Amino acid sequence: MKKKLLTVTLAGAMAFGGSLIGSTSAGAVGNGPNYGGNESLQNSILTTHAEMVSFLKTQDAKQPDMELEKIGESVKGRDLFLVKYIKNPKNPTILFVTQQHGNEALNTEGALQFIKEMGSGKMKGILDGVNILIVPRLNPDGAAGDVNFSLDDYVGDGDYHLTRYNANHVDLNRDHVDRTQPETQALHNNVLGKYPIDYMIDLHHQGAQSERDGELVSGSILYPTNANVAPDVLQKSKQLGAVIFDTIESKGWGHLGKYIGGDAPTISRNGLALEYGISTVLFEVRGMADHYYEPYALGQKGNGYLIKQAEITMEATSKAISDGSILKKDVSFWDTLAEQNTRETE
Ligand SMILES: [Zn+2]
Repeated sequence: MKKKLLTVTLAGAMAFGGSLIGSTSAGAVGNGPNYGGNESLQNSILTTHAEMVSFLKTQDAKQPDMELEKIGESVKGRDLFLVKYIKNPKNPTILFVTQQHGNEALNTEGALQFIKEMGSGKMKGILDGVNILIVPRLNPDGAAGDVNFSLDDYVGDGDYHLTRYNANHVDLNRDHVDRTQPETQALHNNVLGKYPIDYMIDLHHQGAQSERDGELVSGSILYPTNANVAPDVLQKSKQLGAVIFDTIESKGWGHLGKYIGGDAPTISRNGLALEYGISTVLFEVRGMADHYYEPYALGQKGNGYLIKQAEITMEATSKAISDGSILKKDVSFWDTLAEQNTRETE
């Protein structure tokens, strides 16, 4: 649990040479590298808040269908953003939320890639059938390690650390009922309470040692498990999960388990389904960018495919809603999908 002296051994990650914006090459295999105490976790390759703001403003200026809205500020005064693609308010709407936990960083990189892709020909016509909302990096203070508590034991390298909690040491994904923090208030007041949202994927990172059927997973998924969630909301959540499962499992590096999660409404997966009738899926992607507990951290060689995993998840689910195919999705795989277990570590 102590911070180790780290050796920089990898050429691959250094080749990124700066923020991850613009580099999404997949290629690593599913059993991507561990952190294991001997690989560098260079936070300098992640997109900083300033870089993200600049990227979003550039895309906003470039993309006629995109609208960038400030929805609030973090504890430390960083702007929080909503990226909107709304062509026809009558169409179904999906919301993607990333980085409620600041040290769970790569899904934000994937979201930025997806936003870039939305401005390309590849996604042409998709907005005829779906509205897309994206809240990238709900916890920018945790992502910058700009917090009111010590991060001395964290293993990442660089000028700063990344932490799960917001600056007030609050877990934002346990704050969806009380909403004591400006970040959760911004999400509820200016996004969830304002738009008729049908689907939501909450993107996180889990530890690096989870496996299913003896193989380390690239991620795990789960629908709302609170008993009071309406049956149709649950069914559509399971269909949303089916799109993710089929998309990721079809990739050579993709391997998903069923996440084991609680039923508390303070968690967005449950709370948003209960309060707003939104069909939700929690997607826990493998390995964190920084942590004090080493088996949670993941080496950087897996970054490419993990970023790609988030990007294609957003792409595939948006398409399946747009063309209506999501409503025909069979959900029976959930009955046989094994819950992940944790591989023993030294
Ligand atoms: Zn998380």
